[in-house]
Order: sequence, then structure tokens, then C-alpha cells
Amino acid sequence: MRRLTRPALAGGFLILLVLANAVAQTSSTRVRQLAPGVFYWQGDTATRRPANCTWVVFRDYVVVIDANFPWAAKEILPEIRKTTSLPIRFLFNTHYHADHAFGSAQFRAAGATVVCSRECGAESREKGEADWQNQVYGRASRAGATQYDRDVAAETRAQNYGLEHPSLLFEDKVTFDDGTRRLELIRMGPAHSRGDAVAYLPKERILMTGDLCVNWTSGNNVGDRDADHDNWIRALETLAGWEVQTVVPGHGQLGTTATLRGQRAYLKDMLEQVRAGMKAGKSADQVAGEVDLTKHQPFGASPSAGAVRSVYRRLSTAAGR
Ligand SMILES: [Zn+2]
Repeated sequence: MRRLTRPALAGGFLILLVLANAVAQTSSTRVRQLAPGVFYWQGDTATRRPANCTWVVFRDYVVVIDANFPWAAKEILPEIRKTTSLPIRFLFNTHYHADHAFGSAQFRAAGATVVCSRECGAESREKGEADWQNQVYGRASRAGATQYDRDVAAETRAQNYGLEHPSLLFEDKVTFDDGTRRLELIRMGPAHSRGDAVAYLPKERILMTGDLCVNWTSGNNVGDRDADHDNWIRALETLAGWEVQTVVPGHGQLGTTATLRGQRAYLKDMLEQVRAGMKAGKSADQVAGEVDLTKHQPFGASPSAGAVRSVYRRLSTAAGR
């Protein structure tokens, strides 16, 4: 056996260092810095942590955007701690849906006040509990439930996870500005839901859209009972005019203004095809079978029949009012 010389030992030490570094990176690969003091945690559908989360470090505190589910919030909080020791003072949820807002209690326990638009707050109180039951326990008891769904329900019971409603509500806009950094929360709904709001960093031109825009192949939830699809299309037109550099969508990969335009084109096409079918006297099932949105990628990659039925139902209800 060859005796290790000093350089060989040093080389081995270097390899160990590289390996240690690689392991450290793996545990934080979901986190990226988008600009100095602006961090992004990429959601993951496979583990039911689907929503993207962003945090912005101000001079004295941190503002987090979108809580995700409780089991994801527990994973995100230590990631935030790795980037700053400042207090997490505010959590802003873009809308009340389970996958964006249900981790709110974990952020509150860490010291944050939960912020959203006034209408989002009202929706959380009106529809949040039913959404919670459905997302956490409903999925676990349905036929085709996965072991993961059952684990989530069991963990929720064991950990006593609960719904936390927002307590700081704004009408149309709220601005955080410490002289160096500026973050604007701006209501855009009714669109994907009644109280949708976006978060915008005008200096860095980074926009957090919530589910007004997604950038993945798993489709978008167009079925909220308070969704307003025409206004949603208008909201995307407005956002596309802001000369945004980076779009953090509600789900999926980072995007650009082109992503906002693509999401808008997908929705507009869906709405036009559904309206044409309704005008021709076709049933929801007929229209669902005919609508083709596959040219809109990645938005139209997943089957659109369920989404089409939701839009058909919503338009029928609106017409019947
Ligand atoms: Zn979502």
C-alpha cells in the first residue's frame, strides 16, 4: 500500500470539503436568491408542497409571501433562518386557498402577522374551513387516496394543525418601504378567487402572482365559486404591462412577462370556446369533450375537461343571476 504523502492528504481533505458542500446544497436546492435580500423557495407537487414561497428581507424584518401547507411551512421556516436572523414580521397570502394559506399558523407561531386583502380575509372565514376539511381529510378518504394523502391527514391530527385567518386586511394596496426596499401588495381580484392580490418589488421588477399565473404542466384551479374569469384575463393584461423582469408564479418555474401573456391566452381561448359551445346549446359534457387547449404550453398540458366543466358551471350560474 502506498503511503499517503502530504499533498495526497490535502487532496483527500479537499474532496471531503467538496462532498460536504454538495450535501449542504442538496438540503437547500429549493432556495434561490432572486436579488439581494429576495429569496424564493420552489414548491413541489410530488410531496404536496406545491406553492412557491418568496421572502423579502427589509432593514428590520422579513415579509414572506405565501405560506403553503403546514408541513411545507415547517420546512420553509428553517430555510428563511439560514438567510437572515431578522424577525419574520409579516406573512402575506396571495389568496385563501389551502395550498397557499394553510401554513399561516406556523408563521404566526414564528411571530408573523398574517396579511391579505379584505376580500381574501372574508373568503378565508367563509370558505377556508370547508377547503381545509376537503384538502386535508377529504383527499385521504377518497378512493384512489395515496399513502401520502393518508399520512398528511394523520400528521394534521397528530400535530393538531389548524386554520389561521388573516388579521391584517387591506382594501386595494399596502406598501412596505424602509427607504431602501419597497414591496407593494396590490389587490387584483376578483379573478382566480375574489380576493387575489399580488406582491410586487418595483425596483427589482419581481412579481409574485399567486395563482393568477402558474408555470407548470398541472393546470390551474379555475373552479372557485367566486372566480371571475373575464376579470382574471384583464388582470393578466394589466400585469403584462408592468415590464416585469421575473415572475414568481403560484406554481412551477420562474417566468417572465411572456408567461403572463401565455396564461392569459390560455384562459381567453378556454372562455371563448366554452361560450361558443354554450351559445350552440351544447351541454357541459359535450363542451368538455371538444375544447382543445393543447397549443397553450405548459398551461394546457393537463386534461382540460374538469376545468372546462367548472368554467361552464360558473358562466351558467352568472347568466342565471
Ligand atoms: Zn395554488
